[in-house]
Amino acid sequence: VDLLGDQPSAPKLFADATAIRGREARLHEPHIVDLTQLVERIRSARGGGNSVPWFDPESGGRHAEVLLLFEAPGARAVGAGPVRPTRPGSGFISPDNNDESAAAVFELEREAGLPRDRLLHWNIVPWYVGDGTKIRAVNRSDRVEAEPWLEELLELLTDLRVVILCGDAAQKGWDEYTGPRPLDLWVVRCPHPSPVNLRTRPDAREEILEAFTEAAWIVDPPTCPVCGEPGVLIVYGMPGPDLFEAAERGEVLIGGCVITGDDPTHGCAAGHEWMMKRPKPAPRPPAPAATPSKQPPRPTFSGEHAEPHPDALFEGELTAAQLTAQRCLRDLVPRTTTGSIRVGHVDVLAELFDEWAHDHAEPRGSALFFTGKGGTGLWHVLQGLCAIEDPRRWNGLRGEVVAHLETSGRWRRVSPPRGSTFELLPRDPGESG
Ligand SMILES: [Zn+2]
Repeated sequence: VDLLGDQPSAPKLFADATAIRGREARLHEPHIVDLTQLVERIRSARGGGNSVPWFDPESGGRHAEVLLLFEAPGARAVGAGPVRPTRPGSGFISPDNNDESAAAVFELEREAGLPRDRLLHWNIVPWYVGDGTKIRAVNRSDRVEAEPWLEELLELLTDLRVVILCGDAAQKGWDEYTGPRPLDLWVVRCPHPSPVNLRTRPDAREEILEAFTEAAWIVDPPTCPVCGEPGVLIVYGMPGPDLFEAAERGEVLIGGCVITGDDPTHGCAAGHEWMMKRPKPAPRPPAPAATPSKQPPRPTFSGEHAEPHPDALFEGELTAAQLTAQRCLRDLVPRTTTGSIRVGHVDVLAELFDEWAHDHAEPRGSALFFTGKGGTGLWHVLQGLCAIEDPRRWNGLRGEVVAHLETSGRWRRVSPPRGSTFELLPRDPGESG
């Protein structure tokens, strides 16, 4: 029962231990038991512990027709156990989890018309990749280690028709996967529904809703308004071999490369074509109060940086330096009315950058270097602590803080071969406490 009435946010179903125990009691129901055993196998291969959450018995289990793949479990999905975040969550991968990503998935599935009992939610890397206090982005070795488990999962899902790859990590993992997969699987790609994406990428929510709607249309084809036969999706753009095969099987129609804006979305075997309205996206969640509304929204967010783990800095415990810096950023942003975020609290932010750089440094010989590559850019820590609509507005402040670190002899810029890598210089033993 949705007691929240017209509240826009999803109900927090995993708000108490009773709700969690209730769902744990269902882990051996016939539709889910094979998946529960798969989790037990992954756990024991990784030395035990609860860092691999359960599949949600509220889902379609092994009869799911749509598999939604995300990156790796956030803190709120991992139960108590040896390898766990400091604030353990439900122990399930579920849209009922008490975090913002889960709440967004809950809402978007409802809007797209994807019923829970036809879905399954999982991660390309099934285990928690944090160190207990902080979570990181998954890397290639995580994905390689996870590959055999994806193969086992796909073998169990006998009714699977669509995979939705939510975010870069899931897409990379899927593209690298070399094991067997169902031949007639329909693959849909969209951004990860993380709070950072939803707040900073104006089109993210709509893109996710479109992907979810496409999945709903595939598992539940609308009928032709003329003859009543089932409709199939018309796909536009340059078709690849997979698409030609799907078209030969009658699962899609190829619509050509030119999109005019009012093209039909569906056709039937008799040759009728019609346009179905995609659901209108609900209003975006309100931006943080600190965001000045005068700034034009950034049109796209396709930077060269890899993205951080979508839940990074939002679910883990913040370090002392991060907490202090967050207070400073929340002071600076509202005092900025236009353009670049105003410069201030440079000493505090220098501590933040220095800690971040040491956490993500690469040793070369006896020296430490910070490259900011692979989703570890300074931009990410600012945006993670205090998301603003247009992240380019951090540039001035970031430059000042880096200059401070250089002039105080803590960082040294190493220009060649390209980009700005910094050598992290040892602190003068006299000044450290
Ligand atoms: Zn028809």
